[in-house]
Formats: sequence, structure tokens, C-alpha cells
Amino acid sequence: MIIPKSREEIELMRESALIVSKTLGMLAPEIKPGVTTLQLDKLAEEFIRDHDAVPGFLGLYDFPNSLCMSPNAQVVHGIPNDTPLKEGDIISIDCGAIKNGFYGDHAYTFEVGEVAPEVKKLLDVTKESLYVGIREFKAGNRVGDVGYAIQKYTEDHGYGVVRELVGHGLGRTMHEDPEMPNYGKRGRGKKFVEGMVVAIEPMINMGTKRIKQLPDGWTILTADNKPSAHFEHNVALVDGKPELLSTFKYIYESLNIKSKEEDEFRAKVYD
Ligand code: MG
Ligand code: MG
Repeated sequence: MIIPKSREEIELMRESALIVSKTLGMLAPEIKPGVTTLQLDKLAEEFIRDHDAVPGFLGLYDFPNSLCMSPNAQVVHGIPNDTPLKEGDIISIDCGAIKNGFYGDHAYTFEVGEVAPEVKKLLDVTKESLYVGIREFKAGNRVGDVGYAIQKYTEDHGYGVVRELVGHGLGRTMHEDPEMPNYGKRGRGKKFVEGMVVAIEPMINMGTKRIKQLPDGWTILTADNKPSAHFEHNVALVDGKPELLSTFKYIYESLNIKSKEEDEFRAKVYD
């Protein structure tokens, strides 16, 4: 059952989302060769607690840490460890925070130093597909419209769309109805309702869409060991249009990147 949120609840969810956005922004300059994912995890936990929030993933389904840290061929749900990141790696960081009883949950794939051009392309296309998908999250549309848009955009680039893991509704629990697959058919699935909040999160592989899991019971990686990217935003349906609750602007500020992607997204939604 989809649980729509009131305007007041959506503002609280924006607060939770922004704590995650700021956490990712704080981490961005720390992501360089030599740092371990466990060190980054500690920084994130402290930062979240300093903002009067609670790490959203720590202990959730018994996950052992505050961040899911998935380098290179890992898709999602990687566990932080002592292995230093190295030049040319990519690292997908998924972060959750709970404040006022509501979850924020979003993700960004970072470059460690200089990455290969074909890897950079995978990151760019995956992030673009996130906005392409979010634009379909609007009144009158259904779950399949978002999935179709993401699938079409990324498959047209020759990439594989992970099937087993999907986006989701978000609220007082981390995973609410509806499931939001990154693949689908136009006009199929549950209809969107005003006030609902979702996490839209394409998980896109450079090669095969197939995945495998490590014996740790958590880590998902690509079946062909080629890289995978993951970008996630939290979005509310307000006045029939998608409103971003999360932002990557803190990441871009930290890294001195000039990005207009969120402004361009809003321009397309409100034109
Ligand atoms: Mg997430
Ligand atoms: Mg999520």
C-alpha cells in the first residue's frame, strides 16, 4: 500500500534527505587513493550523529555499518573494509539517515583520482538516466513509466540494467510500497499518487545485467566483474510533479564541479 505524505511530512523528509546529501558532500573531498571505506564510514557516522540524526543503514536487516560501499564491479550493499581505494577506482556510496522518524536514502558513484574514459561514460549515463527516470514520476504516470525510461536510456548505450534490485517508496520505513524497478513497460504498474515519496536509483552495469553475491551475504557484484554505477535521489510527488528532496550540490561544491543538472531538471519539469 502506498503511503502518501502530508506537506509537513514531506518537509521533514527533506530534512532527512538533506542530512544524507550533506554527508555525501562532506565525504567527497576525502575520497582519494589510500583512504579506506571503513575510514569513510566512520566519518559519515560521526557526521550524521552530529546532525542529530541516526545512521539509517546501521543495524537495518543487521547491516554492520553506516554506509554501503561498493567499489568497481560491486553494484550495491558492499561492506566497508580496510582495503585502500586506489587511483582509477570508482566507489558507489549509499547513505541513509533517520531524523524525526523519517528516512533519507541516496547514493552517488564517485571517481577516485582519474578514471578511464569508458568508466566515466558509465557514470555520466547512469546519472543522466536518474533524471530521465525522475521526470516520468508525475501525475497520471505509473511505476512502469519510470522503469521504461531508465531502461531505454541506458540500454541504448549498451549497458545492463540490474533486475534483482530496485528503487522503492520511502518514509517512516526504509522500504515502502511501491517497488520502483529500473526497467519496465510504459503504462504498467501502480499509479502514482500525490504526496508519495520514492527513492529512484538506477543500478547500471557496463556489461551484463547479471549479478552475483559474495559469501558475506550482502555484497552484490556484476557477474562479469565489469564496473557498475549507482545514483539515487529521493523525490516527492508535489502538485503532480517530481520534487527533488535530495541534492548532489554539496558534492559538487566540495569538488569544485560546476553542475547545472538539477536546475536543468527543474527547468524541464516546470516548463
Ligand atoms: Mg540507497
Ligand atoms: Mg534506496
